[in-house]
Amino acid sequence: MNKFIISIASMAILTTSCTDTTKTSEFDYNVDRFADIEVLRYKVPGFEELSLNQKKLIYFLNEAALHGRDIMFDQNGKYNLAVRQTLEAIYTNFTGDKDSAEFKAFEKYLKQVWFGNGIHHHYSTDKFVPEFSAEFFAEQVKDLPAEVLSQSADEIIATLSPVIFDPTVTPKRVNQAQGQDLILTSAANLYEGVTQQEVEDYYNKLKDPNDPTPISYGLNTKLVKIDGKIVELPYKIGGLYGEAIENIVFWLKKAEEVAENDAQKAHIEKLINFYETGDLKTFDEYSILWAQDTLSQVDFVNGFIESYGDPLGMKGAWESLVNFKNLDASRRTEIISENAQWFEDNSPVDSKFKKETVKGVSAKVITAAILAGDCYPSTPIGINLPNANWIRANYGSKSVTIENITDAYDEAAKGNGFNQEFAYSEVEIESMNKYLSLTDKLHTDLHECLGHGSGKLLPGVDPDALKAYGSTIEETRADLFALYYLADEKLIEIGILDNPEAYKSEYYKYILNGYMTQLTRIEPGKDVEESHMRNRKLIAEWAYKHGKEDNVIELVKRDGKTFIKINDYTKLRNLFGQLLAEIQRIKSEGDYDAAMKLVEEYAVKVDPEIHKEVLERYASLNIAPYKGFVNPIYTVVTDENGNITDVKIDYTENYVDQMLRYSRDYSHLTK
Ligand code: ZN
Repeated sequence: MNKFIISIASMAILTTSCTDTTKTSEFDYNVDRFADIEVLRYKVPGFEELSLNQKKLIYFLNEAALHGRDIMFDQNGKYNLAVRQTLEAIYTNFTGDKDSAEFKAFEKYLKQVWFGNGIHHHYSTDKFVPEFSAEFFAEQVKDLPAEVLSQSADEIIATLSPVIFDPTVTPKRVNQAQGQDLILTSAANLYEGVTQQEVEDYYNKLKDPNDPTPISYGLNTKLVKIDGKIVELPYKIGGLYGEAIENIVFWLKKAEEVAENDAQKAHIEKLINFYETGDLKTFDEYSILWAQDTLSQVDFVNGFIESYGDPLGMKGAWESLVNFKNLDASRRTEIISENAQWFEDNSPVDSKFKKETVKGVSAKVITAAILAGDCYPSTPIGINLPNANWIRANYGSKSVTIENITDAYDEAAKGNGFNQEFAYSEVEIESMNKYLSLTDKLHTDLHECLGHGSGKLLPGVDPDALKAYGSTIEETRADLFALYYLADEKLIEIGILDNPEAYKSEYYKYILNGYMTQLTRIEPGKDVEESHMRNRKLIAEWAYKHGKEDNVIELVKRDGKTFIKINDYTKLRNLFGQLLAEIQRIKSEGDYDAAMKLVEEYAVKVDPEIHKEVLERYASLNIAPYKGFVNPIYTVVTDENGNITDVKIDYTENYVDQMLRYSRDYSHLTK
């Protein structure tokens, strides 16, 4: 499983108290609210100051990003594009009462489908439950003008009704439940007609355990059985998703023409080559060129990258993120990276699991210009790529913190009352108000720049040895590395933190979140499944249990409510260090049994009582547990000869208009 991944480290919560209702500007961050979702918008500060050439480059890369939109929908489920297309047709042709309960429920469902890039929740991967009736759907489809339909109305109703309304049909996009066939029980459209055993056998046969530079097997293919034979269908021009990829390549070629330098030109060219051939060796060559381009200010990801959407962690979800470096803020991560070896040498991990030399951890703070595919509307706040272990080890990786997104979360959360409800006392609230915006960023920086890049596998250990537990263990490792060092004097010595108490704000938030408040994202009776959530729960509950004798973390009952009280921050740091040492050992030795034991004991099962309490308290605040973003609109200004003279940015588009516009202008895979 690809592990060095997007971190959704600490989503957008609790940075200010409810007494603070002031916003820093007139900019309206809040765009839409439905189901468990809040849609925000983000600013792109510094865009106006870029050179014309850089603006053009960003514009072309943005177009390349938006043209891939349908891919993600199709990867997430076989019927997603047909569902989206049909729902949009109903939505835009509807002539009835738009205030009726049924239409409102229909609209909510459509908004959810847009947000999930399909009929499953982007995070829990559970199928959405529509609150409008199958009869309403059928009537509306029948009312549609024939020219907007790809099939007859009856065919559409027969195919899509069970997909939308029957809870037993594809209930889960990514099933991780132990003991089940994860391929057959997952709705993700990455395999067809094959069992988990067949998939594992197929790839085990391809893999050479002694290959020091293995390709990312299966990353850009769908594995199917045709006439009893298992074959891979590559995503490429002339292959699967060819129509969308042709458009991506069209815009990448334009971008190549205005590249900032030869290094950037070279990796854009390689990426085009990869999209043309589907050859994963070419993808590795591209990844190396990309990782080594650290001088360009404008940068982007465009491809099949993260494998969370595949229960077996091989297939890459299509995504794009276009960005440019925030030069001032990047100084912070540069300092961390310059000291990477010191952090590695001084970690509490057994020295035989440490890297002798930590290579090329390049880190920067970036400003996102467009989000697409797997990064949209829900988006990461930090990225560390490429994913291939051997490329990271030999050529380094790029680690980024997306600051304009983090800032938008913080601004939008102001005054929501969260801290007042959940924090133990004014001391914790004040500490979080004062320091959390910085310590949260530092936590992400340390997690991405150092955590994922630290440590090594012992010779001969299979990087996939931890199997389904691999992602959780990897995220746990990166988080613990960050937590441990947040409290280190070194941060003050190198000038990125100025108060030795500041780390407490992050420690408090982390334990509160891992133990309690992240449960707001879980439905009653359900297990914790997503690997970042599992990792936070693992750390918080392990620390609680192992610090119990010394009363390090205390659960205090007040007015029937549970509060987290941290009595000894120094001991808590030591506990983080102990667990980090053990997690690194598990990873380095590929100790599957120990990984399973830790994850199953601390990270999966939810205490129903605390869960119920958290949900009730949270509901009283009426805050959406998940957030995502609309993109700005970029428009080119041209002179009389058609030459681009400027690129203008506009922030006024709402969620529905953006989704409908994207479907109109960037749809290549719908029928
Ligand atoms: Zn991570």
